[in-house]
Amino acid sequence: MAVILMVLHAGSCTNTVSGPRSQNSINGRLPENHCGPLTGPRHRSPRAHSVSKTLSRKPSSIIAQLRTDASPLNAYRHNIGAIGSPRCEACGAANETRAHYVLECPRWEPYRQPLHVACRKVGLFGSIHLSPILSNPKLLGPLAGFVEATKRFD
Ligand SMILES: [Zn+2]
Repeated sequence: MAVILMVLHAGSCTNTVSGPRSQNSINGRLPENHCGPLTGPRHRSPRAHSVSKTLSRKPSSIIAQLRTDASPLNAYRHNIGAIGSPRCEACGAANETRAHYVLECPRWEPYRQPLHVACRKVGLFGSIHLSPILSNPKLLGPLAGFVEATKRFD
């Protein structure tokens, strides 16, 4: 808000200086005197690639596994014969698939809010599908946060 006000203020000053009244001074003061310099702090927007650099190794490894559907979730582990049941141990659902873990499991619902907010920011509304979440670079950070918060793979 402060930056916006400064910009508006500077704009009005510029108009005053370049306008027909720029030669007038009130009580000997120059119009430039009330116009502060534009030296406010600027916020740098983070770039997409810097998000993946800040991911810790564990969540990015899990995300890579989720992308290939070879994650340590029970549906996959059951598929390869590592365990006897694909059931979700967190909620008892029949299959702990990627979609179940990321989108559906009620056990992890409290940790999904940041991911939902990030999805809306990139234009994903309503029922969200797994593939854009796993592929959009802007959602990697929030997805990693979700993976970490659930501690499902610890
Ligand atoms: Zn579940």
